[in-house]
Amino acid sequence: MIEKKVQDNSGSYRDSVATISKEGKRNFINPKKPKGRLYNLRTWFSIFYLIVFFTLPFIKVHDEPLFMLNVLERKFIIFGMVFWPQDFFIFGIGMLTFVVFVIVFSVVFGRVFCGWACPQTIFMEMVFRKIEYWIDGDSNKQKQLREMPWNAEKTRKRTLKFIVFFVISFIIANFFLAYLISMDKLLSYLQHPAQNVGTLISLLVFTSVFFFVYWWFREQACIVVCPYGRLQGVLLDKNSIVVAYDHVRGEPRGKHKKEEDHDCKCVDCKEDGACKSINDKLAEVQPVKTHGDCIDCFACVRVCPTGIDIRNGTQLECVNCTACIDACDAIMTSVKNPKV
Ligand code: SF4
Ligand code: SF4
Repeated sequence: MIEKKVQDNSGSYRDSVATISKEGKRNFINPKKPKGRLYNLRTWFSIFYLIVFFTLPFIKVHDEPLFMLNVLERKFIIFGMVFWPQDFFIFGIGMLTFVVFVIVFSVVFGRVFCGWACPQTIFMEMVFRKIEYWIDGDSNKQKQLREMPWNAEKTRKRTLKFIVFFVISFIIANFFLAYLISMDKLLSYLQHPAQNVGTLISLLVFTSVFFFVYWWFREQACIVVCPYGRLQGVLLDKNSIVVAYDHVRGEPRGKHKKEEDHDCKCVDCKEDGACKSINDKLAEVQPVKTHGDCIDCFACVRVCPTGIDIRNGTQLECVNCTACIDACDAIMTSVKNPKV
């Protein structure tokens, strides 16, 4: 559960992870469903991505799959080009080039890949999370459901979610295996399951791993496991594009109080705006804001899938999903301030 925190100037948030409590237990995050132009864009991008992911294993070039990374037979096919072990130096050079590209890309664009193109995030946020919103409801309903004792409603929702998550994990595992051994081989194995028990066992192992990741492990994959995520600290510099809070605009944050935030000062005499009611000729008064634009509503924290408060600064947990931008845009629109 995301705890409501006060402004943290101590930097202590850098010594702990939002998803792990002080006692070392898991803080399960139930982010609020994001809404907004960037979330819509991500949804469209994810649809395209999923179509590509589920279509590629069926495409063949010269009777070979377009992509195959068959580690067991040491046969790799990339864009229809076959690489054998003796071609490994080409593969090695290709991988080194790819790593350099990833480093240079991250220095310039930050972690945008994580939030917008990583299969982990796409499946988590755009497939499993959407199903969870559909079955369990939005953030508050999910928390209520978790805390309520087992009853008919909880049993029904948990069973439905378990079945749907497991079936999708099984489908992903099949396609994952198709990328390793080719779709033709996978289909032929599945037609004769009795003779291919080993394949079925590996399918169940893959399915269980995917199920565990999307059912329970979730954002921990990005925070504590993914090496790319762990490298962010050395890949970013002050010119990298990151999702960040505008301190100059936002601070000092605080609740919007009309009388205080829009205290009138006369442009001529700089006296208190009380003269406005006395002399209409001095009606040309300007609002003087005593607060920044952040109204401390925590909307950006509630939608964050990694549970952080981006107002504390760039943090390793941030996957640049931009959900907080959409949340703050909605708040800024409602208080008649410019969008982020
Ligand atoms: S959503 Fe915007 S206004 Fe609300 S707390 Fe976050 S930064 Fe401040
Ligand atoms: S702070 Fe959270 S919501 Fe905002 S981009 Fe980073 S991970 Fe997404």
